Amino acid sequence: MLVVQKFGGSSLATLERIRHCAQRCVAVARDRDGDRVVVVVSAMSGETNRLIGVANALVQPEAHEVHRGPYVPSAVRTPEHERELDQLMATGEIVSAALLAMAIQGAGGRSLSLVGRQLGMQTDRSFGRAKILGVDTARILAELDAGSIVVCAGFQGTDAHGDTTTLGRGGSDTSAVALAAALGADVCEILTDVDGVYTTDPRVVATARKIERLSYEEMLELAGQGAKVLQIRSVELAMRYGVHIHVRTSLDDRPGTMIVPEEPAMESILVSGVALERNEAKVTLLGVPDVPGVVATIFAAMAALDIIVDMIIQNAGADGRADVTFTVPEGELDRATAALATVQFGERPPTITSDREICKISIVGLGMRTHAGVAAKAFGLLAAEGINVQMVSTSEIKISVVVHERYGELALRALHDGFGLATAAAPAV
Ligand code: ADP
Ligand code: ASP
Ligand code: MG
Repeated sequence: MLVVQKFGGSSLATLERIRHCAQRCVAVARDRDGDRVVVVVSAMSGETNRLIGVANALVQPEAHEVHRGPYVPSAVRTPEHERELDQLMATGEIVSAALLAMAIQGAGGRSLSLVGRQLGMQTDRSFGRAKILGVDTARILAELDAGSIVVCAGFQGTDAHGDTTTLGRGGSDTSAVALAAALGADVCEILTDVDGVYTTDPRVVATARKIERLSYEEMLELAGQGAKVLQIRSVELAMRYGVHIHVRTSLDDRPGTMIVPEEPAMESILVSGVALERNEAKVTLLGVPDVPGVVATIFAAMAALDIIVDMIIQNAGADGRADVTFTVPEGELDRATAALATVQFGERPPTITSDREICKISIVGLGMRTHAGVAAKAFGLLAAEGINVQMVSTSEIKISVVVHERYGELALRALHDGFGLATAAAPAV
């Protein structure tokens, strides 16, 4: 049996925790007789943010804010700077990989660490969000054959020039799944600071319940809508290559959540999870000429900057004008509005406004495919709390609403509890 175990940043936050993870790796290799173990590590918690902060403070002292989005906004966006930022960020994982390998050796195991280039993680050259092109597993397999527990630095790869790249924030999950797929691992364990995937973020909603089995499709939607327990790309990869993911705690041996292909019983559950995404911002263009091609021009401007647009609403107004509203990651708002200011709309340009004080709540469930009335119920639950819905979007198994940031957690709780996801109340004593 071959197991890939990924330890997240919080599991490696202190030397004591690193020793604990090392003991766990040694125990897995010993207990499950003959098991081969490939470990993937994140940087020690907070380290990646610290490194980005240092780079930003160096080049643009006033830009200290760090956003946690699908890629890393840096103060300077030149390719040269982004190359160096990847080089810098990758050091976080290199440090934890080397420390864990030493700790495993200290715990009586045989181990060595490998950085992106050594572990054969080949990517394109999109710094900060590199795509994996393939994994050359020769070195890892040779080290496994030699009896080592192989500790791989997550989050990083190498491009055709041998330059270091990174896979986007939270990317160690994707490293782990890619390695599990390439090595044909039996399972990819994601060891983190929660004991599984919950019906919503247990740090935000105390009544959240652990889910035992969840389909790839649902996890994909939850991860895409703010449940950062797994990076969305890791779920996409797992789905494509049939990698079984087991999300569990690094603290003990309790089983966590299995992410698996859809099972027939899953469709009977209307809503399986609710997610909150805080890092969204809204752009509104009032009075856009309502003629073919104008909307295309707006979104071409966003695409040219690689800005990912999420929800879009267009209302035809009077007088041959229309209003267009859309959302972008909050860290991209300034670039988005600056780009729109340069678009040529003709004689009567639209009024452009933006709003950072929004957030998005999404409810996800396979049962939505076959049950009507989910949206009506969701709107009813929000209305009962006096929460105004600003935007809505749906997919086959998801409904997302944008509300004022102030009501985000209230809306999350109202939908979570309203759809019956809360744990049963603690028995009265
Ligand atoms: P790691 O450092 O192990 O990669 P992350 O911080 O990236 O850990 O992910 C784990 C965190 O994800 C949890 O601490 C929890 O707050 C958050 N989270 C968000 N949504 C969920 C959810 N639905 N289930 C479990 N955890 C969630
Ligand atoms: N250390 C990286 C980050 O903070 C990658 C990861 O933790 O998965 O985004
Ligand atoms: Mg993570």
